[in-house]
Amino acid sequence: MLIDIVSVFPEYFSVLDLSLLGKAQSKGLVEVRAHNLRDWTHDVHHSVDDTPVGGGAGMVMKPAVWAECLDELLGLEPQDMPQVDPTAELWDEPVQDSAAENLDDAANPDDTVDSASTAGITDVADTVLIFPNPSAPLFTQRDATQLSHARHLVFGCGRYEGYDARVPRYYKARGVDVREYSIGDYVLNGGEVAVSVMLEAITRLLPGFMGNPESIVEESYTGSNALLEHLQYTRPTTWRGITVPAVLTSGDHGKVDRYRRDQALARTADIRPDLIEKLDCAALSKADRKTLIALGWEVSGRNPRKL
Ligand code: SAM
Repeated sequence: MLIDIVSVFPEYFSVLDLSLLGKAQSKGLVEVRAHNLRDWTHDVHHSVDDTPVGGGAGMVMKPAVWAECLDELLGLEPQDMPQVDPTAELWDEPVQDSAAENLDDAANPDDTVDSASTAGITDVADTVLIFPNPSAPLFTQRDATQLSHARHLVFGCGRYEGYDARVPRYYKARGVDVREYSIGDYVLNGGEVAVSVMLEAITRLLPGFMGNPESIVEESYTGSNALLEHLQYTRPTTWRGITVPAVLTSGDHGKVDRYRRDQALARTADIRPDLIEKLDCAALSKADRKTLIALGWEVSGRNPRKL
């Protein structure tokens, strides 16, 4: 996988040489190239921002600088889009299709798209252009899984008040698979941290990335019926007077599995009931249903419903 990151602070990404991502780069599994957006400027000050059209505080990243950079990284000839009406709705809508899915989810809670569903999980272009943006749909494990099937990812880190909104829409109109993602409901100073978060979530799913591939199979948010993971313990079994649950030292693997599954269901129902609401009742085992019923959920419909 080739990863191009564009930022006004490319040095930030030297941290990606550490840990497992560093090893993956040494093994040739991924190649990360961090670029300075200012290299595509032509003025003496290397300026990448300008005042917002319509007034207001702060500065906005200029589309022309981004375009020169992205045309080069994406191998596109610079061209105008005369066939696109700049006042058309396209320019006001969220860029990626998943945004529309998320809106549908909100409108139709009974007809939800499971955020970790495997449907359409390889539905991704060879090259994907990604912009972190706090006012975009939330980046999920499902997005990470989907993006791990791309060959080339290009990330554009925003700064200031963000980038000119025409940039992602322009590349979408030129046929590029463009995504905008928020990593959470808070505002950061720039896209660098958000890109690091997304990159780590995506690259750890690449075949050969993890020493033990089993460790990413049973994790929080993973699989077709995604739950928060059960609690984890290591030795000593008694530490500062606290002993781990006896079932975990019983040697009975069936009982351990059931205990962990029940705990995952209970923790998810407590902390993230929205994930329980997205489970497919038909895919739940009899024991899972029994646990959910005991937790106060109705499981006879398509998805569980809190009573
Ligand atoms: N004016 C923007 C707003 O209120 O939505 C905030 C811009 S923020 C200060 C600058 C840049 O940081 C954004 O363009 C984006 O690239 C990045 N950023 C900030 N918070 C983020 C978040 N929660 N998720 C993803 N990217 C974020």
